[in-house]
Amino acid sequence: MRVPVLQSMSAKRGGLLSSAPNLLCILGLAAVYFCTAKLGLAMAFDAAQVTVVWPPTGIALTAILLLGYRAWPGILLGAFLANVTTHEPITTALGIGLGNTLEAVAGAWLLQRAGFDTSLRRVRDVLCLFIYSALLSTMVSATIGVTSLCLGYVQPWDLYGKLWWEWWLGDATGSLMCASLLLVWCSGRTFNWSAAQIKEASILMAGLILVSVAILSPLLNTENSVMTYKFIIFPFIVWAALRFGQRGTTATIIVASAIAIGGILQHVGVSSIALVNHDLVVLQFFMIIMTATGLLLAAAVAEREEIAKELRIANHRKDNFLALLSHELRNPLAPIISAAHTLQLPTIGAERRREAQDIIIRHADHMTHLVDDLLDVSRISHGKIELRKQHVSLAKAIADAVETVKPSIDAHGHTLTLQLPPKPIWLNADPTRIAQIFANLLGNATKYTPPGGQIWLGTEADENTVTVRVRDTGIGIAKNMVNLIFEPFMQVDSSIERSHGGLGIGLALVRKLVGLHEGSVQVISEGVGRGSEFIIRLPRILHDDSVKIISETAPPKSELPTKKPQVIRPEIQVVRPEISAPVAPIAQNNTTKSSLRVLVVDDNEILAKTFSWMLEILGHEVRFAHDAETALATALEFLPDVLMLDIGLPKVNGYELCQTLRAQPALKHSLFIAQTGWGQSEHRARSKAAGFDYHLVKPVDISVLEQLFSSLHIPKTPT
Ligand code: ADP
Repeated sequence: MRVPVLQSMSAKRGGLLSSAPNLLCILGLAAVYFCTAKLGLAMAFDAAQVTVVWPPTGIALTAILLLGYRAWPGILLGAFLANVTTHEPITTALGIGLGNTLEAVAGAWLLQRAGFDTSLRRVRDVLCLFIYSALLSTMVSATIGVTSLCLGYVQPWDLYGKLWWEWWLGDATGSLMCASLLLVWCSGRTFNWSAAQIKEASILMAGLILVSVAILSPLLNTENSVMTYKFIIFPFIVWAALRFGQRGTTATIIVASAIAIGGILQHVGVSSIALVNHDLVVLQFFMIIMTATGLLLAAAVAEREEIAKELRIANHRKDNFLALLSHELRNPLAPIISAAHTLQLPTIGAERRREAQDIIIRHADHMTHLVDDLLDVSRISHGKIELRKQHVSLAKAIADAVETVKPSIDAHGHTLTLQLPPKPIWLNADPTRIAQIFANLLGNATKYTPPGGQIWLGTEADENTVTVRVRDTGIGIAKNMVNLIFEPFMQVDSSIERSHGGLGIGLALVRKLVGLHEGSVQVISEGVGRGSEFIIRLPRILHDDSVKIISETAPPKSELPTKKPQVIRPEIQVVRPEISAPVAPIAQNNTTKSSLRVLVVDDNEILAKTFSWMLEILGHEVRFAHDAETALATALEFLPDVLMLDIGLPKVNGYELCQTLRAQPALKHSLFIAQTGWGQSEHRARSKAAGFDYHLVKPVDISVLEQLFSSLHIPKTPT
């Protein structure tokens, strides 16, 4: 989890530093600062107050970043005490303390403004830490500190340049190495290394220590050993960066750095102090470059892993969407194919012919809508939709929308109440798109309201704005989903058993189209089962009777693909292949029937009806049911040879229904076929687990069905 600086600061400000424990915290920080400062000053060789090893800078920066700006007294106190005890006048110690404090505050401020993330998992965060903290903010302390020393006559002005450089180098290494170590280990991310990783990390650390000790041990120690050592630690840091992220990298760097400093300090008393100091300066300079390289490499690896994770999620979403899309396209395709087969019958009556033609037209229309919506989403997201704006009467747009959804409202037995304003209201809008917005909302209200519900569309207007509310008494929307449903492909219920169709793009389209008309859309719901209200606000205009066409560049309808839709030939999936072979033990008493009793269970009445026409063409006796309860009663009375069950049934889904029916002794010889729009391998596996013999994907081709039924050896069910 990324913890932006601002967030971590404000989260802590109120708590950790606001009362009594804060004093302890500040004193604790001062104590840590003091101790590490003393450790650093123990390596001050050119001047007693200036050292190239200065971990307190990193500690101070981390304290401000994690605890907030109120941590500054702890830094000031620690720095002051460390300096005042180093043969300095109080004013000089105070000046240095202020410089050290300002350095940490300035560094944190710069990082905060840059949107720095303390986990250092992005290359930009490492660069920010390197540039703003290690390179820039450290100049504040070096300048104030060395100036204070010279002003207080503690050090001569002619050493100013040399001391400034060493001061800056010590602070820069402290800032980069200690701050990165503390920040990544305190970033709040869970430590989730596997056992194998811990083993590998232990090998790395043990290897580093062994090699270090071998190279730097007094026995082998030569003049060039520190130089050799620097080359040796390089592969260990790269290894850590590639394999163990920032935590592994910072830990390796600190261990390597500590060992190298220890190696150099062995020469104190042996070599000249100037030489030891020179070695330390070179080492620290090398460590800055090494640390930056290691941190950048680890961040690049983390970014690559993040991208790979996002790609995996996107790929998974794409697979889900394709499954949903094929389900939604197969559903209307199934009645079209069944009705088309029925039309081929020479003996078809006039009424059934009319009904079949009507079904084909209606479902082809539905498919066209789906494809249009999909293309719209893609066009809008690529900014390719242009509106054909003109003066549009709001009442006319609403009437067009109502006309579109009327058949569905009637079919569900809903009551629609319209409340239009007494005077005409005009919009400068694309009439088709405005009607599409209202039709989508009314369509959803119809879809997500149980039969017999109430839908209400009301309008109100002030001088500049018109507000349209679409309210229903439907299933409502859970509070945590309210802000999400306008996202493309977002559905509250995306389960396989869901009884409402749709691709989850209607509301995304509504939001985009309303936005293109400079309006807004909002949804209110008291929660699940408590209805929903969608509120659209659009700018209104005063009508001047002349129809003004602002843009005619909207893509013509003919842009839609003219390719004939491909008929998807369903594959028969045998989930229990042994059933399709003759059932040897009971074959004696059974005969193969040419005419079968088939029970079709589908909540889509048109689909069930057209499918039963198809089965009748094949000479079978068919009954259908639209829900689980009726299916069970019909099955026990009709004793079907074959049960073809849809999966997405309301209340009890097809899997559960199959299990219940399979448990009936009267149906023990029956054949169970899942007939569904879901065709992924996981859906087939679920069918198999539920007890289905076959899993057929809609639309089921008549010849395939014929072939399947003729190959079946179904024991004759006693009538
Ligand atoms: P679709 O209806 O095709 O799933 P939409 O984009 O139109 O896609 O809607 C997204 C989701 O918002 C729906 O799946 C549904 O969960 C929820 N939703 C939309 N309108 C309503 C409504 N009137 N009542 C309850 N839920 C709704």
